[in-house]
Amino acid sequence: MNRFYLTTAIDFVNSRPHLGTAYEKVCADVIARYKRLCGFDTRFLMGNDEHSQNVYKRSVEESLDPLAYCDRMEVEFRRTWQRLDISFDDFIRTTQPRHAAGVTHLIQRMLEAGDVYEGVYEGWYCVSCEEFKPEKDLVDGRCPLHPTLKPEWIREKNHFFRLSKFQQPLLDHFAAHPEFLQPENRRNEILRLIESGLQDISVSRAGQSWGIPIPFDPASVVYVWFDALINYASAVGLGTDDEMFAKWWPADLHVIGKDITRFHAVIWPAMLMSANITLPRQIFGHGFMTVDGQRMSKTLGNLIDPIAAADRLGPRGHDPLRLYLVKEVTFGGDGDFTWERYDDRYNADLANNLGNLVSRVTAMAHRYRQGRLAATAAPSDRLAGVAEQVVGAYSKAMDGFAIHEGAAAAFRLIDATNEFIAATAPWTLAKDPANADRLTQVLFDAAEAIRLAAVLLEPVMPSSCREILRRVGAPPDGLSFERDGCWRSDGERLLVQDGPLWPRVGTDLRVGPKERSVSSDDIKPEGVPPVAGAPALVPETPLKAPDPATVPGAPGVPPVAATADRISIDDFMKVELRTAKVLAAERVPKSKKLLKLQVDVGTEHRTLVAGIADAYEPEALVGRTVVIVFNLKPATLMGVESNGMVLAASPDGGKPIVVGFDADIPPGTRVR
Ligand SMILES: [Zn+2]
Repeated sequence: MNRFYLTTAIDFVNSRPHLGTAYEKVCADVIARYKRLCGFDTRFLMGNDEHSQNVYKRSVEESLDPLAYCDRMEVEFRRTWQRLDISFDDFIRTTQPRHAAGVTHLIQRMLEAGDVYEGVYEGWYCVSCEEFKPEKDLVDGRCPLHPTLKPEWIREKNHFFRLSKFQQPLLDHFAAHPEFLQPENRRNEILRLIESGLQDISVSRAGQSWGIPIPFDPASVVYVWFDALINYASAVGLGTDDEMFAKWWPADLHVIGKDITRFHAVIWPAMLMSANITLPRQIFGHGFMTVDGQRMSKTLGNLIDPIAAADRLGPRGHDPLRLYLVKEVTFGGDGDFTWERYDDRYNADLANNLGNLVSRVTAMAHRYRQGRLAATAAPSDRLAGVAEQVVGAYSKAMDGFAIHEGAAAAFRLIDATNEFIAATAPWTLAKDPANADRLTQVLFDAAEAIRLAAVLLEPVMPSSCREILRRVGAPPDGLSFERDGCWRSDGERLLVQDGPLWPRVGTDLRVGPKERSVSSDDIKPEGVPPVAGAPALVPETPLKAPDPATVPGAPGVPPVAATADRISIDDFMKVELRTAKVLAAERVPKSKKLLKLQVDVGTEHRTLVAGIADAYEPEALVGRTVVIVFNLKPATLMGVESNGMVLAASPDGGKPIVVGFDADIPPGTRVR
């Protein structure tokens, strides 16, 4: 069986993982899951980089033994990766004995090859980067990444690696293996760097105790970056388990961030060449995630906790997060995250599109065919043709690690299925018994397209896709791309109708200008179906002409028992929600939160006050259609009489987002 060994960068444990850290692991996980789907014997390695002076300092600050501190951080990291459904097979820590053995083994081989020698290092060192900084890389005498920190001038006995010797061998390797470093722009950058000449580098630090001792000079420890790179080999048995090492080395893919390409594509291969060990097959340097267009940093205070981002969208919220990270960012390029766009994409791709499609097709299958669908004698080939194209584009993209294109291809099939349903109008076919076979076939094809899309998206949204497969009567056990990743035009399946996979977000009622604190309960938990018989506040279906199969309360949709904490439809209908067009907006003097809005409510113009000034510039609201509580008693706020209230989502710790529509709606339209 073909094997595939891939790794991610290992992380410094002096801070908790943030969205940027998570981005890399999610993308690597998608590749690992795709390889498993394709039948590869896959090994996916992640881990923590613990021999850092910053880690040591943090542990001293917290009065902890450094190892105890690292143990605690391992729990944090593992908790994050578990929440994001990251399926690593092995998790290495550089303080583990197996790693020390691998490092010792490799450096000994490099020494024996004559490539390690003793010397004196004198120069600048950025403590925060834990990197030696040549004078030319400093800006005004400071590290460009840490301009507030003065680099240290260091003079100490070091062991050096004869990197200069490997300039030509590296150039030869790059020439013989154009795929070695991807994407292309990264490869060109590194090639220019190698061509400009390589200098020998220090591989040890003197006078430190936190690290792996140099075997032939126990007073020195291995320099942390040198130590860290070796994890990829020590995790598969370098120096400890020859059989395992023979099975898994060389690595097929190192997934890393673009900032550490030099370490991975220059120093690491040179180290392996020196020790006469085969080089990894490929290195992929991904881009960075920014937040609202800004670099994520502790100093800016804009680090996003991936657990919070997942929790925001409910128990299965990690899948929408994974989809966003994969589909919205070209793998290899930089990407941006905003909470607004995150919610928008969730509503557009999942609530309105895929989730709605699954609900409609399973509902119609139950309404018209008791859930049982069998192919008829007259198969249609409309969707099958699209499916074939999509599968081709998908595997080509995924094989080339263009995972964003892979996800986009799967969504083309989903879009085509929505169009197919609109064009064939099963609810119209159902009116005439002469169309019985045609109706069955249309539903069969739609269910088949959903099944296939779920197989293609399984690496990106594993648990959600398994649930979708269950609902379209295709048990997800032992998925195989070869067997399951193609169109099936025969057989019979039993569809399961269940609650909404992804309820729309943005339904939180804002109480006047006073913000109501939002708990995670505001997002409906998975598996709670909408209350039948009651029109949804924000419909599950997109705002377009409904078909009978999706009208809540239509026959075939099981009613849900009312419970004590629910309100009756009569209670709800007392609240009159209407659309309103913003004609003018201005800040309320002396208030940080309040905006005064002039709105057109169809029958009249009104003034109202909304607590959204920290999220919206007044000008940005003019011309927008919002939703207001139309029959709210007037209230005076900061001297302004407010006649109504604007609805907005109030994310925990985030800024409010006003409820809007993806189509033009006249002012005064009732919302329910
Ligand atoms: Zn620095």
